Amino acid sequence: MTNKADLILHNAKYVVVVDEKASVLRNISIIIKDQKIIDILEVAKESNWQTEKYIDCSNHLVMPGLINTHTHTPMTMLRGVAEDVDLQGFLEKVWAEEARIMDERGTYLGARLGALEALLGGTTCTLDMYLHPHMAHKGAVEVGLRHAIGPVFFDFAGPDNLEWNKRIEYLKKWPEVIKQIGGAYAPLVIQPHSTYTVSPEHLAEIAKISQELGAIFNTHVSENQSENDEVLSRYSKTPTKLLADANALENTVFAHAVKLTDDDLEIVKSNEVSLSHCPGSNLKLASGAFDWVRARNKGVNVSLGTDGCSSSNDLDMWSVMRSAANLARLVTNDAAAVPVAEVVRAATYNGAKALGMQDRIGSVEIGKEADLIVLDLDAPHLVPVGDPHGLLVYAAGRSDVVHVLVAGDPVIVDRIPTKVDANQIMTQVREHIGN
Ligand SMILES: [Zn+2]
Repeated sequence: MTNKADLILHNAKYVVVVDEKASVLRNISIIIKDQKIIDILEVAKESNWQTEKYIDCSNHLVMPGLINTHTHTPMTMLRGVAEDVDLQGFLEKVWAEEARIMDERGTYLGARLGALEALLGGTTCTLDMYLHPHMAHKGAVEVGLRHAIGPVFFDFAGPDNLEWNKRIEYLKKWPEVIKQIGGAYAPLVIQPHSTYTVSPEHLAEIAKISQELGAIFNTHVSENQSENDEVLSRYSKTPTKLLADANALENTVFAHAVKLTDDDLEIVKSNEVSLSHCPGSNLKLASGAFDWVRARNKGVNVSLGTDGCSSSNDLDMWSVMRSAANLARLVTNDAAAVPVAEVVRAATYNGAKALGMQDRIGSVEIGKEADLIVLDLDAPHLVPVGDPHGLLVYAAGRSDVVHVLVAGDPVIVDRIPTKVDANQIMTQVREHIGN
C-alpha cells in the first residue's frame, strides 16, 4: 500500500538531526505531510510513499532551520547608519534615523527585506522586536518566515509616538492582530525595550499581562557595562535583579546578557530564563564578551541571535555561530569549550526552547513541523565534509542554502523566494530610504 505525502526530501546525503546524541544520518528520505515530518527512512523504503513534490537531496545536507532569537528585522533599513560607535553612540544615531524613515511603511518594507535575507540564508524563525509590530509581522509573514514579535514598550512616546496607555490598549488587541495576519505558528510576545527605558512599575504591569496571556517576555538585559552602571545608579539593582523584583521572569528571554553577575546568573537559572547570545553585535559595539561556558555550565539555555542590522549589519546566523564558537574558545582558552555540535544546537533547538517551541521545531524528528533547510554540498569550500557539525560552524555559509521549508511550505526553492518578488522588495526599500 502506498501513502500520499505532500513533499519528499529524497536521499539526503547527510541529515544533521540535532537530537541529544547529535546524530547524523546518511542517505535518508524525509516524508512531509500536513506541515509535519511524518517519517524519516532509508531510501529503499521510500517507495511506500507517493508525492507530486519531490526534492532530490543526494548531494545535500538537511538540517533544522536556524532560529535567530534576537533581531530587529525591519532595521535592515538602517544597515550601516552607525559605524564605529559603542552602544550609547549607536542608539543616538539609530533613533534619529528611525524618526526619519521608520514609519509604518518603512517598518513593513524593512521586515520584508529582513525576512527575505533571513530565509535565503537558512533562518526559518526569528524572535523579532520592533516598533509597529503589526506591520513588521505582516511583512515577515508574507515572505514566509516563522516570526515571533509583539508590542514594544518604552516609558516615553518613542519614535512610534505612543503614550503608555495607548501601548497597553495596543497590547490588548495583539492576540487578534496575530490571528488575522496568520502564517506559521509563533508564540505571543511582549517586549519592554529594557530596564533603562521602562520603569520597574511599568515592567511589573506588563509582566503580569504577559503571564496571563502565556506570552514570551523578551527584553534587552545587561548589554554592556554602561547599561548596568546606569540601572545600578538609578535603582541600586542590576537589570536582572530589577526584573526579578518586578516578577518579570516567567517565560523570559534576555537579549545579550553580556554583563551578568554571578548573582544574576543564579536568578536566571532558577527562573529558567533563556539567554540570547549575540556575539556579532557585542563584538562590533565593543559591548563585551558573553561567557557562554559559564552560563552553559550553570544549566542555562543559551540560544543565538544576530541583533539588528544597524548594529551587526546582516542577519547571518552562520557568522553568528562561528563568532560564538570562537569567542567561547578565546574567553576560556579551551578549544573544546563549546563543541561544534553544541553550537549547531544553540542555533536551532535552543532557540526553539527559548520560544517554548522545542516540541514543535528545532530538530529533524518525526512529529515536528518541517522547518528544514537544504544545503548544496557541491561547493569547493564544503569538500570534503569531515565532521558535519564542524562543516556547518566553520565552513558553510548563507550561499550554500538552496531550499528552505517553513512548516512544510517550500518558501525558498533553488535560492528563489516562492511567495514574493525579491527585486520588487529591494526596489521599494531603496525608494523609501531615498538611495
Ligand atoms: Zn537588540
